[in-house]
Order: sequence, then C-alpha cells, then structure tokens
Amino acid sequence: MTDKTPLSPGSTIGILGGGQLGRMLAMAAVQLGYRVIGYAPAGDNVAASACDDFFENGWSDTAALSAFASQCDVVTWEFENVPLSAVDAIPDALLAANPKSLQIAQDRLNEKSFVEELGAKCAPYMRVESDEDFARALERVGTPGILKTARDGYDGKGQWRIGSAHEAEGVRFPGRPCIYEGLVNFESEFSVILARGADGTIRIWDSSANTHDGGMLVKSVIPAGAVVEAQVEAAQNIARQTANALQYVGVLTLEFFATRDGPVFNEMAPRVHNSGHWTIEGAATSQFENHIRAICGLPLGGTETRFTSIDMRNIVGEDALSAHAILAEEGEPHLHLYGKREAREGRKMGHVTRVAHD
Ligand code: AMP
Repeated sequence: MTDKTPLSPGSTIGILGGGQLGRMLAMAAVQLGYRVIGYAPAGDNVAASACDDFFENGWSDTAALSAFASQCDVVTWEFENVPLSAVDAIPDALLAANPKSLQIAQDRLNEKSFVEELGAKCAPYMRVESDEDFARALERVGTPGILKTARDGYDGKGQWRIGSAHEAEGVRFPGRPCIYEGLVNFESEFSVILARGADGTIRIWDSSANTHDGGMLVKSVIPAGAVVEAQVEAAQNIARQTANALQYVGVLTLEFFATRDGPVFNEMAPRVHNSGHWTIEGAATSQFENHIRAICGLPLGGTETRFTSIDMRNIVGEDALSAHAILAEEGEPHLHLYGKREAREGRKMGHVTRVAHD
C-alpha cells in the first residue's frame, strides 16, 4: 500500500490466516472502527469469531481469493507461511506489506543471508539438500548443531538436535531442503519487535527475554536483564535496516540470541509475534494495534513500557482447561484464551500476562 491516505472508519481489512494472531489483530481493528474479513483453509480458525466475515477456502482457490480481495481496502497476513501464490492472487495495491518480506521469511536460508548482508551475525550454517550435504555440514559446522527444514517449520517442528557425531548417525536427511546450523551457546534469547508506518516511521518496543522449551516460546519477561539490554541497540539497528530494506509496513519481528560475542540473528517474522503479546497490557500501544495503525496509514502509537515488571506466559495444551483459575490469583493477571476447540498437547491455547510496578 503506497497510498498514505488513512483508511477511514468502516473500511475493510483482510487478514490472511485464521489463528490467534489474526484473532488479536481483528480485535484491535474492530476497536478502531474497521471491518475485518479473514481468509484461511478450513480448520480451527479462531480468528473467525473476531471477524465480521470469514472465508474458509483453500490457498489455491483463486476465485475465492479474488472474491475476498474485492471486499477489502487493505490486506495483511498473520502468519508467514501463506503461500506466495495466494498472495499473488491479491492485487498489489491492496497488500499492506511487500510480499518479498514473506518470500524471505519463508525460507531460513533466505532470511539468514538477507539479514547477514545487512551486517548481522548468524550461527555457522550450511544448506542441506542431500545425504552428502548433511555429511559435509556435520564435518564443517561440527556438533552440537540443529538440522532444520528450510521451510514450514514453527514452534520447534521440523528440527532435529544433534549433540555429537555419534548422535548424527541416528539422524537421516529428511528428504526436503534443510539448513544445518551450529548450536549457539547463548546467555539469553530476545526479540526486537518494531512497527513501521507507510511513511517510514519506525517505533520499537522494549525487548523481552524469551525462554523456549523444545523450540516453543514458554515466556517473555521484562526487564530482559543486563546481558540482553547491552545488546538490544545493535539488534535494533539490524531490525531497522531490515524493515527499511524491505520498505516494510506493519509489525516486523527479529529473534536473536544474546551471546558473549554480541547478538546472533536467528530468524525473522514479517508479522506480530508471540513474544510481543505482553504489549497488550504492558505497552502504551500493543503490537496488534500498531500493526493495524501502520497498514491503515494511521499515526503509530507510542511503544513505551508501562510497568517495571512484565511476565507473559503461554498456556499450552490441557492447561487451558483449568486456566480460569488464574483469575483468582493476586495481582490481576490478564488472561487471554484463544477459543481453540481442541486442547492438543503442545498447542498454544492462550497466554497470561502479569504486570507490576515494583
Ligand atoms: P527457531 O524455530 O529457529 O526459532 O528455533 C526455536 C528455538 O530453538 C530458538 O528460539 C532456540 O531456543 C532454539 N534454537 C534454534 N536454533 C538454535 C541454535 N542454532 N542454537 C541454539 N538454540 C537454537
């Protein structure tokens, strides 16, 4: 969307994807007086209940994509694996952000080389497209390391940790393009989340320290601690350059490891991010609202942190069934449940944010 005229109230925002990120984006959009239409293949599309209308159609259904687009004034996405062919079916003029950001973020090799060219440091890595490549990567990068599918992995899926050369004997090349990267000995993990407006204005939230388990985010905490805080500025510079290089509009997330040698870039997401959920109650403007403001050409809101201590934790699997008990706790925890029908193991069902002034 190059036109900087703000979208007037009552205009329609289209969201590609139907998960919790879409749901929270839709809630922010509705608050600002917009209509929202979602689009995703049939499934547990929890965004639908927050949207005015929802298309449950496949990504290759170009007729449905055109019908969806014809009702939208701007189109955004809530997850980075929307097939590029589906995005191609949406007129360029409606797209909030450059689809190149999706193309880059959909492939771990692309995103690493793109951000490396802007000056970021990455863990040593090699492309793996055959058994021979895998053997070579193990030799050159060494162990411990992680073999990851180059595409479609999320929350630790499509990843194999390899602790030693001996362990590597038990891991086979999975038959689709992968990346093998050295295991980073990090002190902490953090993300830089920024919003970039159509006029190029950039606002950045404070970085939380993020803890993962099995590749999935468990919690995000502010303050992030001295190690992260010493490295945030360098990481923010990379994130800013990435957003500018892509002429990106909306919320963009870059994840980093804080190491003894400075920030090491891990991956990027051209969307709102789980590690930014704390911004709903913890920041002057949430990541969801600023994404909507950015794509609608409205002024961005402040990103200042409003509390001295913030703790966001994911609610996963069957824990969601007893999550209402959290409401009885002291300190007024903020509970968000995503309305997913099935509390499967390892599935993000909600989150709780605790804020405090020490
Ligand atoms: P990713 O899907 O690449 O974001 O990986 C998910 C999580 O796995 C990260 O947030 C880290 O906790 C861990 N991880 C991934 N890659 C590495 C690495 N090269 N070194 C150490 N930990 C990693």
